[in-house]
Amino acid sequence: MSHSFGPDYVRAIAPYQGGKPIAEVAREFGLDESKIVKLASNENPLGIPESAQQAMQAALAELARYPDSNGFDLKATISKKFNVTPDWITLGNGSNDILELATRSLVRTGESVVYSEYSFAVYPLATQAVGAKAIVVPAKNFSHDLDAMAKAVQPDTRLIFVANPNNPTGTFIEGDQILAFIRSIPKHVVIVLDEAYTEYLPPNQRYDALAWVAQHPNLIVSRSFSKAYGLAGLRIGFGIAQAELTDLMNRLRQPFNVNSLAQAAAIAALQDEAFLAKSAQINNQGYTQITNALTQMGLTFIPSFGNFVLFKAGEANDAGAKVNLALLKKGIIVRPVGNYGLPQWLRVSIGLPEENAAFLAALQSIIG
Ligand SMILES: *Cc1c(COP(=O)(O)O)cnc(C)c1O
Repeated sequence: MSHSFGPDYVRAIAPYQGGKPIAEVAREFGLDESKIVKLASNENPLGIPESAQQAMQAALAELARYPDSNGFDLKATISKKFNVTPDWITLGNGSNDILELATRSLVRTGESVVYSEYSFAVYPLATQAVGAKAIVVPAKNFSHDLDAMAKAVQPDTRLIFVANPNNPTGTFIEGDQILAFIRSIPKHVVIVLDEAYTEYLPPNQRYDALAWVAQHPNLIVSRSFSKAYGLAGLRIGFGIAQAELTDLMNRLRQPFNVNSLAQAAAIAALQDEAFLAKSAQINNQGYTQITNALTQMGLTFIPSFGNFVLFKAGEANDAGAKVNLALLKKGIIVRPVGNYGLPQWLRVSIGLPEENAAFLAALQSIIG
């Protein structure tokens, strides 16, 4: 008798495809690692903050011990910086962990989760991992269609994911519209507002979703240290929700899900306003550099509020894959987004000026 291990819904999962590592591209294409430019994972081109390096150096001596399972010092720093009480904070192994903890603690097999077409790839993964039904709402102009998402909520819907700004499209929805959406959702349905790129927003478009948590027991706001804070390799993020949801997620959390180096680095990075400001500044500069050049090349792109730009590589259905391969051969790693249903498009992360220039020169030589 033939036999398959595990539930059908696990076998149906398409594993997450990350940005290609530099070493892998060097091996596959016979290139010198030092000449490869990786603009594929929305990492911070400035590297990790000096302040975080020093904090980790100091924390090395204690690595034989388990980390603080409750992240006392880091929660105190988050609490002070964002004006939230420590018992509303969940620390995660990346904000990815928060997205999964929310799903696993709230959604049963067979129940449904609502998210938008062209939104973050982890939402379908988290949904499928618990055998839940995905209700994927068609995007409007590459952005979340919040009215349609509210209407898509079913009696068995337990969770809604909203990314603002969104990845991979870079679209942004104004805070007042997000708040109106949250107010329109039934109280028993939880909304995860994923703000992995919020630090890049221009000051006039910022809004304080953490303050909304006090009025909305069904809201979880997630934040990441991987992008503007420059700590992607350490895997750390956090979620803010009222005590009931926080307590629920804490029950499923691995006891030591955030390692001690990550906690030490995050405390330093949170206080390093200069690094954050520099991240935003280099990002703005790179955005102008890349979008001006794309415009000159006659290429379509989606205006972005993150640290990346989604652009159309060509009209053919395999344009994304073809241009991606040609870029790889020239040592430029960007992100194909065929798995998001965008086979004509590519996503490029905004790098240092010289990295952006190398990407643009390679792209010009391929399509020009
Ligand atoms: C990068 C990203 C995250 C999470 O990254 P972590 O490294 O797990 O913190 C979450 N949501 C979106 C939309 C992202 O682009």
